[in-house]
Amino acid sequence: MQPARESEWSAWFASARAWLVELAEEGVERVEVAPAAADPVPARDAGPAAAPAIGSQPHPLFEPAPAWSGAATLESVRAELGDCTRCRLCEQRTKIVFGDGNPHAELMFVGEGPGAEEDRTGLPFVGRAGELLTAMIEKGLGIARRDVYICNIVKCRPPGNRTPLADEARTCGVFLDGQIAAVRPKVIVALGKPATSLLLGRDVAITRVRGTWHDYKGIPLMPTLHPAFVLRQYTEENRRAVWSDLRAAFARVRETTS
Ligand code: URA
Repeated sequence: MQPARESEWSAWFASARAWLVELAEEGVERVEVAPAAADPVPARDAGPAAAPAIGSQPHPLFEPAPAWSGAATLESVRAELGDCTRCRLCEQRTKIVFGDGNPHAELMFVGEGPGAEEDRTGLPFVGRAGELLTAMIEKGLGIARRDVYICNIVKCRPPGNRTPLADEARTCGVFLDGQIAAVRPKVIVALGKPATSLLLGRDVAITRVRGTWHDYKGIPLMPTLHPAFVLRQYTEENRRAVWSDLRAAFARVRETTS
């Protein structure tokens, strides 16, 4: 057998790495490889469906959250949330992180949940991921952060910044639905897999759905990579992808305004 050329090895590793990143994004924690596997590197095109021993049960996080009922204003949604103790996330939180920005924003961003800095300040996206998001909004799109509306699936910090659990996302999802109903943005940008999956009501692979248009109760929804993911995988490709998604979202806002 001819030894593989260095460039082939690099291509294999790049392909395997991309595949593993995608599986991790889909919530897969373990992949078992059959000892007799003929090809140690799975074909990129085979995709996660062809991978062995990966559970195919839909994750309950991705059931749609209950809808907000009645008239919605940000004040009424915040008042209903109150000093919430509806789920375990209240136990370790410092501050509830409700949302930030223009109550009549045309562009709304939905993230996953507060991190340490957000928990301390009560404001969404003010840590490292937030700095990147703010730079993309202000320097990239040329609009002030205060002109968009930013919030998360859950309003209290999940311990260790873990992904919100199913019951937490469902319990808090009704307030997110209320915020969307109150702001009535022209376009929603869903940041990362959990926000996209919750809003679409199905388990998505973010690397596949990003950059394509979807719909949340009649509002155009653009999924993109979460800024924390972009910071972890700070590649030209990821930065370009997010930049292209945000430009598409902003163009759609302007189209519906003119
Ligand atoms: N900060 C937030 O407010 N939300 C996230 O999803 C990540 C960081």
